[in-house]
Amino acid sequence: MARDPRHDVLFEPLRIGPKTLKNRFYQVPHCTGFGVQKPRSQARYRATKAEGGWAGVCTEYCAVSPESDETPFISARLWDDGDLRALALMCEEVHEHDALAGVELHHSGVHCPRREYRLPALAPSQLASDYLLVTPKAMEKEDIRRVQADWGTAAGRAREAGFDIVYVYGAHSYLPMQFLSPFYNRRTDEYGGSLENRARFWLELLEITREAVDGECVVASRIAVEALGPAGVEIDDALAFVRLADHLVDLWDVNVGSALEWSKDSGPSKFFPQGHQLGWTGRVREATAKPIVGVGRLTDPDRMAEIVSSGVWDVVGAARPSIADPFLPRKVEEGRLDEIRECIGCNICIPKADPGGNIGCTQNATAGEEFRRGWHPERFEPAENRDRDVLVVGAGPAGMECAIVLGKRGFRRVHLVEAEEKIGGIMRWIPQLPGRGEWGRVLDWRAIQLAKLPNVEVIAGARLSAAAVREYGAELVVIATGAYWSPTGVNRVTHEPLAGADASLAHVLTPEQVMLEGKRPPGKRVAVYDCDGYFLGPDLTEKLALEGYRVELVTPFEELAPFTHETLEQALLRRRLHEAGVRLHRGVALDSVEGGRDEVGERFELAADALVLVTQRISDEALYLELEAGGEALRAEGIEALYRIGDCVAPQLIADAIFDGHRLAREIDAETPAVPLPWRRERPLPEAVSADA
Ligand code: SF4
Repeated sequence: MARDPRHDVLFEPLRIGPKTLKNRFYQVPHCTGFGVQKPRSQARYRATKAEGGWAGVCTEYCAVSPESDETPFISARLWDDGDLRALALMCEEVHEHDALAGVELHHSGVHCPRREYRLPALAPSQLASDYLLVTPKAMEKEDIRRVQADWGTAAGRAREAGFDIVYVYGAHSYLPMQFLSPFYNRRTDEYGGSLENRARFWLELLEITREAVDGECVVASRIAVEALGPAGVEIDDALAFVRLADHLVDLWDVNVGSALEWSKDSGPSKFFPQGHQLGWTGRVREATAKPIVGVGRLTDPDRMAEIVSSGVWDVVGAARPSIADPFLPRKVEEGRLDEIRECIGCNICIPKADPGGNIGCTQNATAGEEFRRGWHPERFEPAENRDRDVLVVGAGPAGMECAIVLGKRGFRRVHLVEAEEKIGGIMRWIPQLPGRGEWGRVLDWRAIQLAKLPNVEVIAGARLSAAAVREYGAELVVIATGAYWSPTGVNRVTHEPLAGADASLAHVLTPEQVMLEGKRPPGKRVAVYDCDGYFLGPDLTEKLALEGYRVELVTPFEELAPFTHETLEQALLRRRLHEAGVRLHRGVALDSVEGGRDEVGERFELAADALVLVTQRISDEALYLELEAGGEALRAEGIEALYRIGDCVAPQLIADAIFDGHRLAREIDAETPAVPLPWRRERPLPEAVSADA
């Protein structure tokens, strides 16, 4: 297919300093969990994006010295020549695909955990971090000179490693921004006070970086042009800084937010639409004629083309859209728009990468698996046993993903059979929750790909019994029947049902009953009991509040939905529920539908007309267990193997259920497909001691 001429502007080359970007797609720095500890994973992960058409591909933040030790978070590092060699691998692989490699040189300043380094953090002034439990040393002049010298050395190593783009990273309220922002900088010397003085440290870093790369590399700088809070600068000061620094910068990488307000940058889709940063980053053109790259979870090429044509940005930056689809630019170029696997803005990639140690993605099961498992997002090996027919029972996220990969691996016939009238499993109703519409892309993308595969047939509205599965005629059977929310309130606190909880009663409801069956509380006062700790409890609460119920959320956790901290949604959810008039009861463990105990052991009771149970899910494994128990009967019907995947094995994140379905299909011709093949591990060997040690 040919490219839509409307998107031509996205494929115009762009000169940036001494280099040329071959098009306008650019993977901005983002974490992976690889750093320099997993150099081959780092290299293959970034190179896959380069292969997919991104013209520039960057590392995550890359500490210039041990004083900016991010442990327990995982950053890249250029502390010594060993780090240089580790990152040189990435440059080599990225260059094979005609893309530029960028490195985001970094110093955390006050926001530095230093679990390895152990000595004090540094900052312009001795003011405690608003982000971590750190009180820093106020930098003396010699500290400033040392950090700047380390920066210059790291920039020199970056050039030697083969990087084309070297950053001075000042966004997310890290050290250069800490000097620029009066919130952090109370100095009275030439580095504090006026804007010119507060800008001095950053300007000197830019000069040092330019000197170190000696005209061979692009000098980029990343700046949050509006902190949207106190921890940075407001747009007018940011524009003034851009004017001051413009002669030293070849590429401006612009965003918003701060370390504490990172959610304003990597905005979850529930709260932020695509392109939400443009109101601020779109103003940077007022201060510079240099190339600008901006971000905003953009996946729509029409919107991208519109932004570039308007001139506010020259380059479309992406972290999450490039994780969800490393081949997005190629697909735009080849007019394969319906194959773009669009990011859903769930932010599960954040806990997977950092501190998880291996990036993962809801939409893209291959993210982070490029080296260690050898998975390519667009290439699938023909299966050894593809002359078999496969029956996949259950068309939820795991079943759909499994059927797609089996189809791409060339199986003779793949039947994906769903009991309900519509495919999608939980994705039939999760996108109906307030603000979760973009999550519907999990189903939409898979439905489109399934329809394209001639060897895959989707059959909905057919509930198969064990006998029907046995007689179906497939040699390989995969059960993907999902999970359901406990109708009796079995929960993490007591490991028992709640006394009196029975979802067949009018006043006890499960999430599925609310979302799929339209069951509603018999009165206006509703309690939601959330033992899950992720998005569903708050979302159901919000939904019912929007429908006019007086909702109170009860949770045994010390705070609302603690896992949503990791997806950057927690503070936003809290605010949203507060606005909806929801009362929150934390640290309360119910033992019955009547009440329970609060955190100090006092009796807790709530006057409500109904209780919604978001306690725990239970695998829907009856079909699998019945089939599995009849091993002989399976063989008699010609079934060679029976597997189960996704929530049917154990209730899990959507990302993990999809991964499970993908993995089985990738390895279904291995010796024991039910057990994952070992992956290639990267580990330091005894002789691999730092070059400077
Ligand atoms: Fe997007 Fe979610 Fe994938 Fe992150 S995990 S890239 S937010 S789909």
